Amino acid sequence: MAGGVLSDERLIDWAIDEVHKVIGGDAVVQVEPLLELEDKYYGYADLVCGEHVFDLKSGGIPPLPGYKAQLAGYALAHMENTFRDFVWCHELYIDSQYHRYYKITLGEARELVLGILDSHLDENSEPVSCTYCKWCKHTLTCKALTKDFDEDDMKDYDLTNAEDLAEALHVAKRWKIWAEAVEKEAKKQLQEGNDIDGWKLQTRKGRESIDIGMAHKELYSRMGSDKFLACCSMNLTKLRKIWGEFYENEELPVEEFITRSRDSVAMVEDK
Ligand code: SF4
Repeated sequence: MAGGVLSDERLIDWAIDEVHKVIGGDAVVQVEPLLELEDKYYGYADLVCGEHVFDLKSGGIPPLPGYKAQLAGYALAHMENTFRDFVWCHELYIDSQYHRYYKITLGEARELVLGILDSHLDENSEPVSCTYCKWCKHTLTCKALTKDFDEDDMKDYDLTNAEDLAEALHVAKRWKIWAEAVEKEAKKQLQEGNDIDGWKLQTRKGRESIDIGMAHKELYSRMGSDKFLACCSMNLTKLRKIWGEFYENEELPVEEFITRSRDSVAMVEDK
């Protein structure tokens, strides 16, 4: 899985349901199998079952081709190992509960994956920035991120013009990735005891926490329930989970009282 931490078990449940819809509940699956094309690359898909390769994704849904290159890498190794002509690739976006799937043949996977490897090994090929740059280990030095730092190459963007704005946004995104890599490196150097002119580390207090059971035992009888509960917040995910464990077929009786804040809006690429 790429990009982020899975914290909500209901989201995982959605992914499990989607897998069941495709392969049924009794199928034998391989969890995080090593998929390798000898001497070329290896990786671990989240789940493989027969002609299906599944990968969980958190965060936003990238535009097509999405994670096709990554899944083609798993698919190619799986097809070569099991003598298949095709497999179905499944990208399960748990945050948005979106299931993207596509069939990929052995020929297509070979062309895509080996093409990427060839280009990677070609000394004359230049990197091209993309949506995966933020996870790359070369963000600090990659020329694809910083290529128009030269003032002569900088354009005078008219940000009221849609085309200019789109172009400027791509440039800004690249620079932002590089800027974050620089900040991370500077922090690392300061932590190692190196001087950086004009900068120092500052310690911030860690977050306080308390065992709620212990607090309840010590304070409840003295504060009373109203005052004590005014200091607590509810984890609805846990509440639903624990309720579901005891009352499997009964919806949480307070569902209708649960309120939801306004949905937030994210800006994602639309290719
Ligand atoms: S930072 Fe450079 S090398 Fe890394 S993914 Fe982006 S373009 Fe490729």
